[in-house]
Amino acid sequence: MKELVEAIRARGKGVGTEIVKVDMFLNHRLDTDLFVKMGRAFADAFAGEQPDLVLTVEASGIAAALTTAIAFGNVPVVFAKKSRTRNVTGDVYESSVFSFTHGVENHIRVAKEYLPANSKVLIIDDFLANGEAAEGLCNIVKQADAQVLGIGVCVEKSFQPGHEKLAKDGYKVVALAKVTGIQDGNLVVED
Ligand code: 5GP
Repeated sequence: MKELVEAIRARGKGVGTEIVKVDMFLNHRLDTDLFVKMGRAFADAFAGEQPDLVLTVEASGIAAALTTAIAFGNVPVVFAKKSRTRNVTGDVYESSVFSFTHGVENHIRVAKEYLPANSKVLIIDDFLANGEAAEGLCNIVKQADAQVLGIGVCVEKSFQPGHEKLAKDGYKVVALAKVTGIQDGNLVVED
């Protein structure tokens, strides 16, 4: 997606050799115009596969999941929670996910009542790195006997194996922008 590629080139930074920092428009300050366009781009990419709900993981996936759900005609967004709070009690689907950015194991949870069996689920997240978050969400969908229509990510880091792993498992993966490398703090972004 042209606007996202341009934003990453103009306002993104590389941290070390693996971290893409896009706080200016995607992860801390949110460029709302860009988020609306990303939502539409996901709806176009998955056209013909109307989801019953969009699933993501808190917190950084929620904004893109929301604009995608709106672009699909205001379907609900369900986000997996990372911490065991009093808000999520009783019957939950759970999966363990290793966080690439924080270096810790998270348990992500979705209350069973929000993920009905047989529902068609589109998974959306901000980044795809090693595929842990997406795999954890797919695992939760499987536990619910629901169906993954596909996985959409705003930014894929193509130098990490997430896309390949998910594609091998048979999932349709759509990335709106692909960062192919980081050189001296500069991001290399595919056209
Ligand atoms: P994965 O689970 O695919 O290894 O990593 C994806 C998750 O980690 C995303 O939900 C995202 O929040 C976070 N993440 C992974 N790599 C990066 C990165 O380079 N920059 C940012 N901002 N987040 C990342």
